[in-house]
Amino acid sequence: MESTMNAPCFKASDYKSDINPIWCPGCGDFHVLMSITKALAKLGRPPEQIAVISGIGCSSRIPAYTNCYGFHGVHGRSLAVAAGLKVARPDLTVLAMSGDGDGFSIGGNHFLHACRRNVDMTYIVMDNRVYGMTKGQPSPTTEPDWDSALSPGGTGLSPFHPLVIALASGANFVAREFSGDIKACTETIVQAINHPGFSFVEILSPCVTFRPDEREWKNQVHLASVPETDDPARAARRIMTDDGMNTGILYRGRRKPYFASVSDEEGDISALEAAFEI
Ligand code: SF4
Ligand code: MG
Repeated sequence: MESTMNAPCFKASDYKSDINPIWCPGCGDFHVLMSITKALAKLGRPPEQIAVISGIGCSSRIPAYTNCYGFHGVHGRSLAVAAGLKVARPDLTVLAMSGDGDGFSIGGNHFLHACRRNVDMTYIVMDNRVYGMTKGQPSPTTEPDWDSALSPGGTGLSPFHPLVIALASGANFVAREFSGDIKACTETIVQAINHPGFSFVEILSPCVTFRPDEREWKNQVHLASVPETDDPARAARRIMTDDGMNTGILYRGRRKPYFASVSDEEGDISALEAAFEI
């Protein structure tokens, strides 16, 4: 759990590096970066006490665009690196970043077990329902009938449901936001970081190049439409059959974070080693 007590004064620009993003003009990830830096400024932790970890993909460029410590890892492995870092350095605020391909396909197994382990970190997935960096293949969250040059007629496959899977796997905080709603994204990221345990925030972030239809998301999202609950079954029922466009904080649980549940007050890691079978 992070504290905002006695926070020194920081501006969003203090968390932004001097590297200009190379995302396509209009990409939703610009807004996500803005929301993250605004959220970090609200929390008021110095950039050197924050680590931003990513995998591979357009969204995974984010560590380079922040002024925090960062690690641009291998495909689908942001959560494995982030969990290791948080267990070794519980004093840091750890953010893991991903996209829908990186996070739910290549890194799908890590997603399940990160939810289950409940290490105190925040996972932000920029979901554009397509592999953007590799030029437009369908991803796990792509609609079955999305017709494109690389998937003529659509894949016919049921999409992966990240929020329901996060709830079923034990995530302690589950939310969905839209990148264009910077105010709500910022506040939800603050809440996610402040909440103990594994927090998952899916951000609908349009890929304007390979999914130009997603430019319409700004007219299709139902902002702040999800009622919050502390009952994971009720949360899953609420979100299971929605159209994927409802936003808000869906679930806030009360599970103890992983480190707190397996180590003693002095930080003895023998229980951790046993849990990980080291
Ligand atoms: Fe954004 Fe899509 Fe361009 Fe990647 S390809 S930077 S996701 S608009
Ligand atoms: Mg994607």
